Amino acid sequence: MTAHIIDGKEIAAGLSQSVAAAVKRVTMAHGIEPGLAVVLVGDNPASEIYVRSKTAKTAAVNMRSLFYKLPATASEAELLDLIERLNQDPSVHGILVQLPLPPQIDQRKVIEAIAPLKDVDGFHPLTAGLLSTGLPGIVPCTPLACIMLAKKVHGSLAGLEAVVIGRSNIVGKPLAQLLLMENATVTIAHSKTQDLPDVSRRGDIVFAAVGQPEMVRGDWVKQGATVIDVGINRVQTGDGKSRIVGDVAYDEVAEVAGAITPVPGGVGPMTIACLMLNTLKAACAQNELPAPEVTA
Ligand code: NAD
Repeated sequence: MTAHIIDGKEIAAGLSQSVAAAVKRVTMAHGIEPGLAVVLVGDNPASEIYVRSKTAKTAAVNMRSLFYKLPATASEAELLDLIERLNQDPSVHGILVQLPLPPQIDQRKVIEAIAPLKDVDGFHPLTAGLLSTGLPGIVPCTPLACIMLAKKVHGSLAGLEAVVIGRSNIVGKPLAQLLLMENATVTIAHSKTQDLPDVSRRGDIVFAAVGQPEMVRGDWVKQGATVIDVGINRVQTGDGKSRIVGDVAYDEVAEVAGAITPVPGGVGPMTIACLMLNTLKAACAQNELPAPEVTA
């Protein structure tokens, strides 16, 4: 079997187009131009690339893009000050602080300092609490992207066996919550799980979010299952160069899976499109407008 490739780039382009049109409608009808502030601390090359693509995408969907860069030596107080200013600024509807942060800054304090209504990454504990109790709120971008991609293949996820490998607060846990809301039967596997290949083979859908290059092998996947690869890992190639691979051994798994996301070009672009969607939703919520109508 050769798997259907889930084209995250194309699906993200469709979602972005729909967001861009909805932004125009909101701006014309209410004079509100949704604004996203992205904050980068230091010079991490991978973070620079992520931030550049987020700011470019923000402008492409007709939103205001603000970029703040602090030096790697910035103090926690400086960053918290900036966040407070952005919290108070009514023209800023979403705040994203690019992680990781330098060691002198407490990441938890920073996440908790962002006003929950502007928390477009969806990492604030209040946001996590709303999600886990099924209350309306911002949904973290990468888990939302995973659900949208899985639904492109399956339509409804109700009754499917979903295996999530990874239990981080950013991906694994919120993804599992969303899958429960979609009425899937959910297993969360992690670094202490016994016989991970066997657990993974249970999945009608397997989500790999471990940060281990090509860990999920061909014989970890049930014939015909859908595989969503969240991983972004840079590995060295023999010629002194490097390339990006996912958490899934793509070539092997594509032989058994029914559908699979590539890396790059799967969850990554869809995550950024979901960030745009979240910023638009945040702008509407802050102005007491109904949630925008957007299709993926
Ligand atoms: P994390 O390091 O916070 O969490 C990794 C999780 O995987 C942990 O819960 C751990 O228990 C589990 N794990 C680690 N090693 C394991 C092993 N050998 N066996 C089983 N479980 C194991 O990482 P994260 O922030 O959740 O990110 C996961 C991956 O997704 C990374 O590659 C990251 O770069 C990528 N990521 C991609 C996007 C995107 O937009 N595509 C967004 C966020 C994260």
